[in-house]
Amino acid sequence: MVGFRVCDQCPGEDEHVQNEVHALLFCQDHRVCELRKHFSFLFTPFFEDFSATQPFLLQQVNNQLVHDFLSQQNNRLFLFLSEHMDLFVAGRDQSAADQPNNLAEGHPQL
Ligand SMILES: [Zn+2]
Repeated sequence: MVGFRVCDQCPGEDEHVQNEVHALLFCQDHRVCELRKHFSFLFTPFFEDFSATQPFLLQQVNNQLVHDFLSQQNNRLFLFLSEHMDLFVAGRDQSAADQPNNLAEGHPQL
């Protein structure tokens, strides 16, 4: 299943539609939030709302800003996107609750 659908990562917020921008910036799944906090230096220059206590956005952002974020010259961005993708792929394959959660304890590679 790809495309627009209810986000299966957000705790109790099933009105959220899962798409790339949601997953990247808005999703409040705790594993995604932990990952964003690890890579907060990628977000803070672009998104004023972003902080350690709120590692997700609440206000819509324009596509240009998302594009700028994804175009930034930082090779850590690819690391973040790779880790981020893994979270969502893992969440689809089986119950995320059964998975060990390395991100909550701090990422082993960082
Ligand atoms: Zn979500």
